Amino acid sequence: MIPAVMPTYARADIAFSHGEGVYLIDSDEGRRYLDFCAGIAVNSLGHAHPHLVEMVTQQVAKLWHTSNLYHIPEQERLAERLVEHSFADTVFFCNSGAEAVEGGIKLIRRYHSAGESPERWRIITCADSFHGRTLATLAAAKNPKHTDGFGPMTDGFDQVPFGNLNELRAAITPETAAILVEPVQGEGGMNTPDIQYLQGLRATADEFGLLLFLDEVQSGVGRTGKLWAYEWGGIEPDVVAIAKGIGGGIPIGAVMATEEAARGMTAGLHGSTFGGNQLAMAASHAVLDILLADGFLDQIDAVARDLQLKLDGLVKSHPDVFECWRGMGLMLGLKCVVPNLEMMTRLREAGLLTVVAADNVLRLLPPLTIEQAHVDEAMAILDRVASEWTSDGG
Ligand code: PLP
Repeated sequence: MIPAVMPTYARADIAFSHGEGVYLIDSDEGRRYLDFCAGIAVNSLGHAHPHLVEMVTQQVAKLWHTSNLYHIPEQERLAERLVEHSFADTVFFCNSGAEAVEGGIKLIRRYHSAGESPERWRIITCADSFHGRTLATLAAAKNPKHTDGFGPMTDGFDQVPFGNLNELRAAITPETAAILVEPVQGEGGMNTPDIQYLQGLRATADEFGLLLFLDEVQSGVGRTGKLWAYEWGGIEPDVVAIAKGIGGGIPIGAVMATEEAARGMTAGLHGSTFGGNQLAMAASHAVLDILLADGFLDQIDAVARDLQLKLDGLVKSHPDVFECWRGMGLMLGLKCVVPNLEMMTRLREAGLLTVVAADNVLRLLPPLTIEQAHVDEAMAILDRVASEWTSDGG
């Protein structure tokens, strides 16, 4: 018999009753787990962060939804903060990453159809990308594991290898409208390009009159040690999709764009019933309060560099278990020699929560609030599990 919850996930046999900072506590035995998954890069402030709890609780007691039929001052203020701290001039709020990418795709099509080049509607995307599970975002990523049986696919996406500017340039036609890329590919295996790639994307977009659309759903909001991953390349994109960490666990997504890129978006052209409601805005304000506090991003960068140094040591000590690490900031992946799913299970049994990605990678996505002691605890578990693996002969 089909379970009451539609069986679309392969869930681990565990549930949690509550969380405390970087730890989750299970419902059965009250065991504490160090959470280096953070709801897949969502719980940016960890669990039950006092400022987030206070802001959300205060808002819930007052008002949490009115709809975009009316002004929402908290939404206007959040948009202003995002504009102040990014390349963007304007922001559209929705509820998830896929919806943000989908909104960006619509904005790109309108940009050209409202301008002089309505023939430009195709978007160049990258192999091994992930942009969500709606029909257009599936079509953008073209991953057969996700698209099989869901055809026909939405047209308008041309795919090239990630990190290769020559192939990207060769794929541009008079119908090309934009380039859509994750600055660091998350689900695809924490694939991290060099900085020149981001700069090359910007230069290519400028040369051919294309919009540069970055999917920062996973890499944004401090995850890489800067507020936005594009900052590492010293470039400014035209459109960026964000979600995950910006709400700290309350569903929120956003499309950020320059005034020029958003020129086609006028009243009635796009919308979302829940997008930008007071509850989601309170959570995002709380996340930004912490992230933008003096020194917080530098602290992420410092902890991340220490973690990366220790991952170097781990890989060197266990070459039969881990091949290498990759990623940026606290968006890190260990490419495993052993099966990544089995490694994730053994780590969970040892008290460390992680999440897998493609290419046999195990992702480490801790809350951005982790401290040195948490890094040391995670490394001790990783080292122990890897040693046990080798000593049992797998
Ligand atoms: N884009 C990227 C880069 C992602 O990592 C994800 C989710 O993992 C999405 C889009 C889709 O986000 P959501 O699951 O919130 O729709």
